[in-house]
Amino acid sequence: MSSARMLTGDRPTGRLHLGHYVGSIANRVRLHQRYESFFIIADLHMLTTRNSREDIEQVARNAREMVTDILAAGVEPDRATFYLQSAIPEVGDLNTLLQNLVTVPRLERVPSLKEMSRDAGKEEMPYGLLGYPVLQAADILCVKGQVVPVGKDNAAHVEVTREIARRFNHLYGEVFPVPELIMSETSTLVGTDGSGKMSKSKGNAVALSDDPATVHRKVMGMYTDPNRVRADVPGTVEGNPVFAYHDVFNPDREQVAELKARYRAGRVGDVEVKEALAVALNRFLDPVRERRARFEAQPGLVDELIFAGTERTRAEVHRTLVEVRRAMGLTSAYTQVRRRAERYRKAVAAPA
Ligand code: ATP
Ligand code: MG
Repeated sequence: MSSARMLTGDRPTGRLHLGHYVGSIANRVRLHQRYESFFIIADLHMLTTRNSREDIEQVARNAREMVTDILAAGVEPDRATFYLQSAIPEVGDLNTLLQNLVTVPRLERVPSLKEMSRDAGKEEMPYGLLGYPVLQAADILCVKGQVVPVGKDNAAHVEVTREIARRFNHLYGEVFPVPELIMSETSTLVGTDGSGKMSKSKGNAVALSDDPATVHRKVMGMYTDPNRVRADVPGTVEGNPVFAYHDVFNPDREQVAELKARYRAGRVGDVEVKEALAVALNRFLDPVRERRARFEAQPGLVDELIFAGTERTRAEVHRTLVEVRRAMGLTSAYTQVRRRAERYRKAVAAPA
């Protein structure tokens, strides 16, 4: 294993689904074998769009479920450090210091933020949401992350981190590695309703934690080719979510090719194609279920992993902050104050 550090993470907003798996988790399962890996549970980032008491009350449970999903997907706990962002106050300290190294127009040009604001039903951009990429820079830089895997939507954020790191190093001295982006070649997984990407908020998701019967039920209810009213009508494979899932999750390529050929020719019913998909998906999820069961058999284990990881990360971040404050001259500013104050105290305490 190279000693380069990787940082990845998610907001703790609920169970992970097959879209998350395709879009990021599969990649992380692969990459965490190669890098020293930090997995952030980004609850401060969650607050930029969801900050009700109810949202916050669910953080602990969502964090546990999310980490369980990631472990079940194949990340090995002894090769990963999971930590809860809000439990490390220095992340916020670093965020405050980094905020001055980027301009408002630069952040306004980050394309995803307006979209996130809109999706969250905000009429106007919250200040914290505009600063989302800066907080992300704080996350990456506070553990001196060197590599950050990104999908298309996130690359612009990490670009801000790189600019901030360079700017900091230029102004105050070399403290931060400028992190490299690892662009993942992942595609977007369509939802079971075929209406757009799989998303839990749209109710079109298959969770990594769904049991076999639930997976079967969701697959049987999937959207297919709407023009195909009977099994003997030729159907369209392209853009058909059932075949999109076969392409991603069914390792039996021969079966997939054969089903596609019969579908196009009008010689197979939707039910048969879906039954085959349910089998393939459940085969894919079976090892995930087995790993999940092992972690769930030890209640408290996942919380222990998050707790130990957070303590470890806090120590790391503390060291980084000491270095940052020293490089910026803030340590020296306070030392001057303290020295003069100490002299003053001595003077007033001294007998006249
Ligand atoms: P959801 O969209 O289900 O509400 P979320 O909003 O918590 O989940 P996102 O921020 O949308 O999560 O996504 C987290 C990561 O998962 C991102 O890297 C994103 O690209 C990836 N992802 C989410 N949904 C999909 C999908 N349907 N296909 C591919 N990747 C996805
Ligand atoms: Mg989403």
